[in-house]
Amino acid sequence: MSFWRFEQPTDPTGVGWAFTDRHNGFSRGPYASLNFGRTDLDDPDDLARNYEFLATSIGCDRLAVSAQVHGTTVADIGADSPVMRAGSIREEVTRQWPEADALVTSERGVGLVIRVADCVPIVLADPAASVIAVAHAGRVGLLAGVIESTLATMADHGATRVRAWVGPHICGACYEVPADMAQAAWDRNPATVAKTRWGTDAIDLGAGARAVLEAHGAAVEMVDPCTFEDSRFYSHRRDQGVTGRLCGVIWQK
Ligand SMILES: [Zn+2]
Repeated sequence: MSFWRFEQPTDPTGVGWAFTDRHNGFSRGPYASLNFGRTDLDDPDDLARNYEFLATSIGCDRLAVSAQVHGTTVADIGADSPVMRAGSIREEVTRQWPEADALVTSERGVGLVIRVADCVPIVLADPAASVIAVAHAGRVGLLAGVIESTLATMADHGATRVRAWVGPHICGACYEVPADMAQAAWDRNPATVAKTRWGTDAIDLGAGARAVLEAHGAAVEMVDPCTFEDSRFYSHRRDQGVTGRLCGVIWQK
């Protein structure tokens, strides 16, 4: 399999999840190659081929995505929700999706997709309750409560024992921010306290996400190389804003 991390369902009705890196896709130039980012920046034909590859790889004929805006809105994906469908992905890839920074569903055969380049991608599941979710937790969303909103919506779907996998993002030793911005994050979520490798104020988004998840009873696994340090991944900061997006995806058969 050509995704960076790919966990197939272990039983016929189980949950699978994956995080991608930038390799084995179709995009070119600064977006090379497995980009799931904005259609107004990259070539929609290339993006559609990447999404088709994703759908085929995970064996789902529907992919749910959202317009991510660093908020706390959760899209509750039901049978009638707008999704990309295998066979018409090229037509649908440029669609204006509802604004949301997390997706939750009890539907089977739908891949929930979240896109990032330094922000924290999280995939979540309560397989016993047949509920899955993804969340986009950057600095703004994390501090605003996107993880809490995601877990609350999962609970509405009957989730009681959530497992969460925190994917590739910029680490605390790399994520330098102005002192006042760091202090605001530290006050709100003490687990985010960090210094850069060169001694300046920083925010540890992954530790902050983990703390929120664990405070709400989730079992957390960190699957999180640093996107800034590891050139296998897109990094908004390292690539100076012109780059693609990796994705976290989760589905249930
Ligand atoms: Zn780092």
